[in-house]
Amino acid sequence: MSEVLESPRPELAQAAQQGPGALAANAGRARVVARDVNVYYGDTHALKGVDIDIFNNEVVAFIGPSGCGKSTFLRCINRMNDVIEGCRVTGEITLDKQDIYSRDIDVVQLRARVGMVFQKPNPFPKSIYDNIAYGPRIHGLGGGKEVLDEIVESSLKRAGLWNEVKDRLKEPGTGLSGGQQQRLCIARAIAVNPEVILMDEPCSALDPIATARIEELIDELRQNFTIVIVTHSMQQAARVSQRTAFFHLGNLVEWGETEEIFTTPRDERTQGYITGRFG
Ligand code: ADP
Repeated sequence: MSEVLESPRPELAQAAQQGPGALAANAGRARVVARDVNVYYGDTHALKGVDIDIFNNEVVAFIGPSGCGKSTFLRCINRMNDVIEGCRVTGEITLDKQDIYSRDIDVVQLRARVGMVFQKPNPFPKSIYDNIAYGPRIHGLGGGKEVLDEIVESSLKRAGLWNEVKDRLKEPGTGLSGGQQQRLCIARAIAVNPEVILMDEPCSALDPIATARIEELIDELRQNFTIVIVTHSMQQAARVSQRTAFFHLGNLVEWGETEEIFTTPRDERTQGYITGRFG
């Protein structure tokens, strides 16, 4: 255990043991890199010195008890915390080596590169077609109608929804079932071709069948996107993610390969959480 506790960053420690080549290989795969990220809500220090690398074409799950800072950190990755009054973020987060908190960053563009799917499906009060076409239109990706039609079709196909909605694209998105609405929101995020998709408990409002469908979809989407998912369900983290990060009281306690986090956690707090001693 003592050896384990000395190594809160297992993959980096392991890579270091394997030599600089392995470290460099891992570094090349990191799409989002966070260093010493702190978040304050007024005087409350909600997130404390978070360091993590989020790798390309992987799903990383954020787990931990309620209120430990998972959503707060998720929102740092596309600067959604900017809109919360009294919220202050320090430290550094890069996306493809570009500092996302730099003054040159256009936050609207950033949020197209880093899409977000929320707990409760939130389609716009528009048609299914217009829900998907909205982002491409405002980002000038649409071109003519044909191009836009193609984006709508391919986004709905990638979100596994096309066959269910292709004959009713003009109907309101809000008329779909909960699971379909969440896939619509995923299709909407995909339509602007993001690099990273953030999902904040995307299945918490869904029944088990719709949840299974979204989980399958997440697995397919990781071929093309980097996905970060906050989940309260350890089973879900184990099913969908390649890496897992465990948060506790504002600290990122440890992160690493999902299987290792669930079978041989390094920290007693992780062990306590995954064995159900607290949560
Ligand atoms: P989790 O996602 O792990 O449940 P959160 O990131 O939502 O945790 O919350 C972390 C801490 O920050 C909690 O103490 C919570 O009360 C606080 N917090 C979250 N959002 C806000 C906010 N908008 N204003 C003030 N405090 C907040």
